[in-house]
Amino acid sequence: MDFELSDEQALFRDTIRRFVDAEIRPVAREWEAAGRYPHEIVEGMRDLGLFGITIPESYGGLALDLVSLTIVFEELARGWMGIAGILGSHSLAAWMIDRHGTDDQRDRHLPDLATGRRRTAIALTEPDTGSDLAAVRTRAVRDGDDYVLTGTKFWITNARFADPLPVLATVDPGSGHRGLCVFLVPGDAEGLSVSRDIGKLGYKGPESCEVVLDAVRVPAGELLGGEEGKGFVQVVGALAVGRLNIAGRAVGVAQDAYDRALAYSRQRHAFGQPIADFQAIQLKIADMATAVQGARLLTWWAAWSAERADASGARADVAAGMAKYHASEVALSVVLESMRVHGGAGYSTELEVERLYRDAPLMAIGEGTNDILRTLIAKGLVAGRTVIG
Ligand SMILES: Cc1cc2nc3c(=O)[nH]c(=O)nc-3n(C[C@H](O)[C@H](O)[C@H](O)COP(=O)(O)OP(=O)(O)OC[C@H]3O[C@@H](n4cnc5c(N)ncnc54)[C@H](O)[C@@H]3O)c2cc1C
Repeated sequence: MDFELSDEQALFRDTIRRFVDAEIRPVAREWEAAGRYPHEIVEGMRDLGLFGITIPESYGGLALDLVSLTIVFEELARGWMGIAGILGSHSLAAWMIDRHGTDDQRDRHLPDLATGRRRTAIALTEPDTGSDLAAVRTRAVRDGDDYVLTGTKFWITNARFADPLPVLATVDPGSGHRGLCVFLVPGDAEGLSVSRDIGKLGYKGPESCEVVLDAVRVPAGELLGGEEGKGFVQVVGALAVGRLNIAGRAVGVAQDAYDRALAYSRQRHAFGQPIADFQAIQLKIADMATAVQGARLLTWWAAWSAERADASGARADVAAGMAKYHASEVALSVVLESMRVHGGAGYSTELEVERLYRDAPLMAIGEGTNDILRTLIAKGLVAGRTVIG
């Protein structure tokens, strides 16, 4: 067994870390507070080829292994979790188009998505349903060579920049997951619009939108995979990759919170000594470091397992679910502990900890709430799809 990253993985991590330290960390607090869209950072991510991390080299992508993928998300989130969000839905949607698209769909979309010339997103959630995807109401009706899509999507990250926007819709309401299809809706399709931005606690910078599809005409050639009724399977596979990205993000936020607590405890004095010399603070530092490293190792293990499960065709959802569930709970507890170590300063908007405190809860919600994941993990264990020990 070897816990070292490969030379290639370590080099890649160092490259992203330098980018994050130079371009993201210096502006994160100010831009996040202002809700400013980070166009310049997106440009830098394009230059690094990050929009192609899940796309094969034959289409101009980087085709990263899944451990490297989690490292990208950890490093970006160590600087600003919202930036990792900009890449998150793009990379899982691109993965889905590569895995499930027709040759024609791959050829038309993947080269542009790999360079970031065009970007993508994923529109699953609706005002009335999120966890229960089989209940989506967005309707797709065949009309000649087209489908006509009508419905409302909710909480869609990157909605304004997505071209195409993969939309989960049903061709057969009432049939549950059997009627689900993913349509690659062109970003400029008539009738497709962002109706509003949803206000939120954290994760500011990237937009989270309500999207309306008002009789949007989509050519039948944009039905993902070319066959009706495959949407549920297509989306579930992509969500496993999405959960690895969320686990990576959670580790990044937790690492940043820990780093800041350690640094602050060394420089802040109370009762004539650095607070780091108090055992009560040392216990928090020990607990935070142990939790962060445990979450990172579980995330790497899940990514490593998913890579192999992928090759054999077996399902990777249980391992990815475990990593996302555990790492996001660790992030929640570590940001709170970091805030405690900072005392009153931790509550101030003049330091970064309060942003981490606002960003961390999203990782317990996105790509499946942690309670949904716990039921999914349990089902996998009971069915014997994953064995622990
Ligand atoms: C900032 C942000 C960005 C997002 N970005 C996107 C995006 O880009 N694209 C997209 O499609 N969606 C996105 N989402 C939506 C997100 O995926 C959903 O919010 C999430 O899946 C939960 O769905 P819901 O909000 O409808 O909650 P619900 O499904 O209504 O769940 C409410 C509560 O009930 C619990 N619950 C529901 N069913 C069960 C069950 N069977 N067993 C036990 N407990 C259950 C849940 O765990 C939760 O606690 C985003 C959300 C946020 C907050």
